[in-house]
Formats: sequence, structure tokens, C-alpha cells
Amino acid sequence: MESIEPVFEKHPEYEKNAILERFVEPERVIMFRVPWVDDDGNIQVNRGFRVQFNSAVGPYKGGLRFHPTVNLSIMKFLGFEQILKNSLTGMSIGGAKGGSDFDPKGKSDGEVMRFCQNFMGELYKYIGPDTDVPAGDMGVGGREVGYLFGQYKKISNIHVAVLTGAGLEFGGSLVRKEATGYGLIYIAEEALKHRNDSLKGKSVVISGSGNVAIYAAEKAIMLGAKVIAMCDSSGYIHDENGLSIPFIKEIKEITRGRISEYLDYFKEEELTTEFVKGGIIWNVKCDIALPCATQNELSEESARIIVSNGTKYVFEGANMPSTIGAINVFSKNKIVFIPGKAANAGGVATSALEMAQRSSRQSWTFEEVDSRLKRIMISIYRNIDNAAKEYGCEGNYLAGANITGFIKVANAMLAQGV
Ligand code: GLU
Repeated sequence: MESIEPVFEKHPEYEKNAILERFVEPERVIMFRVPWVDDDGNIQVNRGFRVQFNSAVGPYKGGLRFHPTVNLSIMKFLGFEQILKNSLTGMSIGGAKGGSDFDPKGKSDGEVMRFCQNFMGELYKYIGPDTDVPAGDMGVGGREVGYLFGQYKKISNIHVAVLTGAGLEFGGSLVRKEATGYGLIYIAEEALKHRNDSLKGKSVVISGSGNVAIYAAEKAIMLGAKVIAMCDSSGYIHDENGLSIPFIKEIKEITRGRISEYLDYFKEEELTTEFVKGGIIWNVKCDIALPCATQNELSEESARIIVSNGTKYVFEGANMPSTIGAINVFSKNKIVFIPGKAANAGGVATSALEMAQRSSRQSWTFEEVDSRLKRIMISIYRNIDNAAKEYGCEGNYLAGANITGFIKVANAMLAQGV
């Protein structure tokens, strides 16, 4: 809020029209019960959410998160971020978020399917291809999107795109799976380029080992960087020679195992990787830090370690992974920091490209979608950089992102009246 203060000085009409008061209040919040039957025949009950935060720019758009930490507060912060993020993509999509406190970890395929079916059994009343289009987020990948879509179709008899991140066999887009991670590296590449620097030879630490982390790692390596550490909730793996991403993909995407299983891929005499159980990944010295796990994972203390290790760049792949204390440390020490709402916008931007392909019954090639994604990320970088300059806070990309994202939504709200 403080970062958009200068916008209000320039635009007195925002205050006159109570834009801020309206902006912070979700248009609609839906909360519902999700009962389902587990493999032992017991009835379990979880809570479902959809926060339809702001539709000034376009239909509600944002992911669904299945994780035990999900509650209304988390959904609201994620939905709020999504408004600004979606606005930054330049596409016509409003902001929303949803999910459940259901924990997919350790659940069988059948349990996940029954949960998804019951979750959609309630959610379907509130979404639609031109009103609200959910997608994946933590705990919701291709498998879950498939089950959710199958149920939506069955009960609504509407057979068009109501969720993005769909399988390629039923209307999904190439690059959607890779988009958040690839987009993160494209914006990083652009930020480095503007400083006459490049990814070549850089050491990169990536927290997390989910969809964002895996494809950020893949693209960083493609562009000549070395990914030396990744983690999950059990600890981190570290190898100064660089990690092999296909193994991590197999563990996380196919066998759904733990990151420590990475060590099993090597004979003892070849093993150069260490697994640090319960360790904080930010202790590993690197040139570029990419927090790609979850909110508030990077504390002020970790930020100080990152700075003292000589890291120059922090680009957020997750939504708000750095605490406010950490961000203050970065800005005092002139770290190049790009917040998640800009740096991870490639995922939702490619969701919008998926919607465009589906509604026009087209399938673009991998190269076509990838080059559009890259153009979008470059233009996000330029827009937030210019906004920061225009509003007197050059290099402050958090302010630049908030300002750019906010102005478009505020103007749309003004135009549409109260
Ligand atoms: N969950 C992703 C995000 O945080 C993607 C949302 C979408 O594609 O709608 O932006």
C-alpha cells in the first residue's frame, strides 16, 4: 500500500472514488464444505474456498491450491496478489484464488479423484469459461485439473475451457506446464541483460522442487547457469557440480517422492551431492537466488546470509516467498529483486494464451507459445522498470510492479462506475 502512495498523489480521482477501499475488499468470497470418502471407507471433511477478488480487467482468473495451510486469509492474500499479477501480464484477466486445506501428500489416486469430484461438485456453480477460470497451484497439477474438469463437464454439460492447465489431449496448451519457471528465467535474463550481465556460468539456488522450481532449473541450465541446490520440506540437496534436473523431475512428477531420493540415482563412488536434512537452503552461497517454494519461506535472517554470501540477484518464483524484513534487507543492500507478482506471471499469462487457443479452436506450436511467453516477460520487466523510474524509485521493482498492476485495474474500476 505504501508503494502506491505516489500514484494517489498523481491521481486524486482514485481517492475521490474510494478506489483503495473497493480494491481491498473481494467482490465475492465462497466457502464450502467438501466431504469425501477415503480408501478405508471413512468420511473425511475438508473446507473449500474461492475468492473472486476483482473482475475489473476481465473474468476472474487464478489457481487452486490444495495444501493443509490453506485458510481464508491465505486465499485472500493470494487472490489480492493475483489481481496485480494478472494486470501486469497485459491480458484481460481479473484476479481470484481458491483451494482447500486437503493435503494430497500420501493420498491414493482414487482419494485425490474423489476429493476433486466433490470439490468441483460445489465449485461448479460459481465458475464458467467467461466468469471465472481456475487453474493449478501448489498441490494441483495436471492430474487434479483432469479430475476437476471431468467432473465439471459431467455436472454442468458445458464442454469448454473452464480450467487452464488442461492435458494436451483435451485442449491444453504446450508450454503451460513449463511457463511459470521458464518465465521466471526469461525475466531474470532480461534484468541481467540490462546490467550487461548474463546467466552464463552463474550459480543458482532454487528453493522448492515443484512445478515452478523444476522448470526454472531446466531453463536456467539451458541458458548456461548451474543449479547447485534445490529442496523440499524435508531438507535440501546441494552439489557444486550442478544438479541433474531429469532425476528431480522423475522423483517429483512421476514417483511423487522426497528430494533425498536424488542420492539413490548415483553409485556411492560417483556421489558428489549432499542431502542436508531440515537445513535452510539459503545458507548455500550462490550468484542468483530463486525462492520457488511458498510464502514467507525467506526470512530477514536468511536475507542477511544471502547478502553476506555475495548474491546479487533474487527473483521470486513463488507468491510472496520473501518476508517484508527480507525485502528491506535486499533493498538496503542494492540486491536486484523482482517480486513474484511480476517474476512468476508467466504461468497465468500462458493460461490466458491457453484460453485464447481453446476459444479459437487452435493449437499453437511450442515455439509459438514460448516466444509469446518470452515477449510478455520482457514487456513486464520494461513496464515495471519504467514505472519505478517515473515514480521516483528507480530499481525498486516491487513498487514498479505494484504501481503498474494497480493503475490498470484502478482505471478499469473508474470507467465501470460504482
Ligand atoms: N497458480 C498460478 C499463479 O499463482 C497460475 C494461475 C493460473 O494460471 O490461473 O499465478
